[in-house]
Amino acid sequence: AYNFCAGPAALPEAVLKQAQVEMLDYHGKGLSVMEMSHRSADYVAIAEQAEQDLRDLMNIPSNYKVLFLQGGASQQFAMIPMNLLRGKTTADYVNTGMWSDKAIKEAKKFCQVNVVASDEANGFRKVPDVATWQVNPDAAYLHYTPNETIHGVQFDFIPDSSVSLVADYSSIILAEPLDVSKFGLIYAGAQKNIGPAGLVVVIVREDLLGQVVPGTPTMLDYKIHADNGSMYNTPSTYAWYLSGLVFQWLKAQGGLEKMGEINRRKAAKLYAAIDGSEFYGNPVALPNRSMMNVPFTLAKPELEKTFLKEADAAGLLNLAGHRSVGGMRASIYNAVAEEGVDALVAFMADFARRYG
Ligand code: PLP
Repeated sequence: AYNFCAGPAALPEAVLKQAQVEMLDYHGKGLSVMEMSHRSADYVAIAEQAEQDLRDLMNIPSNYKVLFLQGGASQQFAMIPMNLLRGKTTADYVNTGMWSDKAIKEAKKFCQVNVVASDEANGFRKVPDVATWQVNPDAAYLHYTPNETIHGVQFDFIPDSSVSLVADYSSIILAEPLDVSKFGLIYAGAQKNIGPAGLVVVIVREDLLGQVVPGTPTMLDYKIHADNGSMYNTPSTYAWYLSGLVFQWLKAQGGLEKMGEINRRKAAKLYAAIDGSEFYGNPVALPNRSMMNVPFTLAKPELEKTFLKEADAAGLLNLAGHRSVGGMRASIYNAVAEEGVDALVAFMADFARRYG
């Protein structure tokens, strides 16, 4: 079967097999990683290796901290203003979908939010033209969502910003190479392209740390986590370990250049299947079509349940669109093999032939 879930999402089969082998007795130590103290030498080695592998994969400069935290990407919506306002009272946000919107709502609890551009009135189908953005040079930072998981809208550029750039990479981190040095902070919930749920990865430039809003709880202060190697308290140890296995798997695949190549090919095949048929549709502007999350509609919406049922029976799992938008959505993260996309494309053609 192929799992097209948006998250928690497919993990590479090789990673799951390795975890299975190591599950009861990690490297002959007589216990599972799940049962190890996070302070033990064995676990610290696992954690440090995972961080190093992520640094290698993403070419993360040495003046950035990599944090393995809990609370999901949603907790970052609050931690970002609490940590990055640094005495300022306003922050810039671009609104390209439901996740940007949630980040905006949370930031409003801490500061004045300047929405520099929004595609809401258009139903979130494209990234607003940069020429129309109303940026504030006094903003503490500019936040945007490079890939909107629900609407399938992806930025085709990294904004040029005079203030620190902050980005929610939850659904597109590790999909292709990225110039981390352009950002003040990148964050990503793990449960899509990194590993299991229960972990959020934050990559933050060191000079931004240490000036939290007064009253910030200890656990929401990046500097506390940075100073303690993400072990101020007990981290999500097993999710961190499994993410480390995914990083090693990505290295073995040839790294992010190679993943980018494969991901572009997978997405191109799926969009070609949608565009090549009267039966399927995708409303997103061509340059902003997501490489990871591909929503599509059927010309006969009354057939959606039948489509999902038959797809499921054919081993094509979790193709329902997000409950807020309906329709279909295929999430084709790194762990979804190209053969999975081929199988989906063949199924779609067959379904259209029979019901179109
Ligand atoms: N941001 C984006 C782009 C997402 O796709 C998601 C989750 O699906 C979130 C944030 C929220 O993540 P979490 O459930 O880890 O809080």
